[in-house]
Amino acid sequence: MGGSLAGLLAAHVLAGHADRVTVVERDRYPEGPQPRPGVPQGRHPHVLLKGGQTALESLLPGFLTELREAGAPRVGMPEDMVLWQSGRWFRRVSATTHIYTGSRAQLEELVRRRVLADPVISVLEATDAVGLLGDATRVRGVLVRDRSGEARAEPRPLEADLVVDASGSGTKAPQWLTAIGAEPPHEETIDTGLAYASRVYRGTNGALDGETRGYYAYPDPEQVHAGGALPLEDGTHLVIVSGLRGDEPPTGDDQFVTYAKRLPHPLLHRWLGEAEPLSPAFGYRRTANVRRRYDLLGRPAGFLATGDALCTFNPIYGQGMAVAAMSAVALREALADRRRTPTTRRVQRALLAASRLAWDISAGADRKMPGAVGTATDGGSADRFAGWYLSRVQERAPGDPVVGRAFRAVLTLSEPVTALFAPPVARAVLFGPPAPTPTEPPATPEKPGSPAS
Ligand SMILES: Cc1cc2nc3c(=O)[nH]c(=O)nc-3n(C[C@H](O)[C@H](O)[C@H](O)COP(=O)(O)OP(=O)(O)OC[C@H]3O[C@@H](n4cnc5c(N)ncnc54)[C@H](O)[C@@H]3O)c2cc1C
Repeated sequence: MGGSLAGLLAAHVLAGHADRVTVVERDRYPEGPQPRPGVPQGRHPHVLLKGGQTALESLLPGFLTELREAGAPRVGMPEDMVLWQSGRWFRRVSATTHIYTGSRAQLEELVRRRVLADPVISVLEATDAVGLLGDATRVRGVLVRDRSGEARAEPRPLEADLVVDASGSGTKAPQWLTAIGAEPPHEETIDTGLAYASRVYRGTNGALDGETRGYYAYPDPEQVHAGGALPLEDGTHLVIVSGLRGDEPPTGDDQFVTYAKRLPHPLLHRWLGEAEPLSPAFGYRRTANVRRRYDLLGRPAGFLATGDALCTFNPIYGQGMAVAAMSAVALREALADRRRTPTTRRVQRALLAASRLAWDISAGADRKMPGAVGTATDGGSADRFAGWYLSRVQERAPGDPVVGRAFRAVLTLSEPVTALFAPPVARAVLFGPPAPTPTEPPATPEKPGSPAS
């Protein structure tokens, strides 16, 4: 159920184990890389983190070459960006990781083209999943309804040995499970009320056309507004501003630009004043972290959840697509494990484990934000120690290349949290003050070996 990134990648893996895989997708896919109604977040920046790059390349060999050939910008961190966090500018030392910042529509289209070339996989486009078949012990299929005809079609059954919910953060599966007598999952939630507004611009003053490819200011409990400009595949920039509940960014032309004044430096506001807007501003408000605990005992067999339908993250951390791909890798590994029978629960636990690091990062950071509400806002005493340590990491990451490398490796989901406790990192974090950082936004990358300017 759901033919976006998580659904397509799960279908790709399942095609290695099934006679037939059917993807049920509400939308009719566009001809090319265009936004579509079922993925409204597609108009907002979508960075592909390193953990997601590795997973996609392993699922679809050659994918990153295709992405580059299609023009998706590959941006070196921190070298190619002007970055601000926790009151400091990052030194622009040599890149230790890269992110892709091209449009969400382009990335999805490339995945779709590769996955749907497999003859085992078919798609029911313009078709809604509207319920589940089965009972409390076993899910046996999906009720689907055609959306393409003029008259409202009757739902019809689509039987299946395994149903995977990949219908995104708005999933109705918990209600559908209840309707067949099965228990819905417990939901863990943390909601800061973060809201986005994004708009495409073409720069006119050259500031983001050379060695500097983008800006970004991260939010924190003292500076809750975030914003930046990230390069797209066609040479334009996607600009985002965000704020919390009660001070959401507006989408009106002038107000969007004025809102950028809330950022900790006038740099983005000035750039917007000279840049040419190429699209309206689009808003987005549903940004809560939600984790559905399908892995706990008592769920019916034959039903799995993946992607945002399993675990949705505050998008400000840029993790969801990476986790969708990492979950597909986890699915592949769980199904290939010859030592254990891949029971529904075992596979569901593997899917949850694939999202754990991302959850710890976004839930851990959002618990500290003012006004956060939800069922999982209290992380306990271990979380308080982790929070203390992490805030020291954040103070040191902008100026200390060793701490910065480890910080980026964890944040981009390519190394586990233990990388932050490796001896050279821990020494810098626990002893001594933060290393000096630039006093103004650094306009160029540092030459190797030069001190912070
Ligand atoms: C504002 C915003 C910014 C984001 N930025 C980033 C980022 O920078 N980096 C990143 O990695 N991730 C980002 N994400 C997260 C990312 O969009 C998702 O994690 C990613 O798309 C994987 O989602 P998915 O496939 O699980 O669900 P989705 O992409 O939401 O897709 C769900 C699919 O299910 C279909 N569907 C829904 N209901 C039904 C139904 N009943 N029947 C049939 N089909 C149905 C929809 O049409 C859609 O195709 C962002 C999210 C938001 C909201």
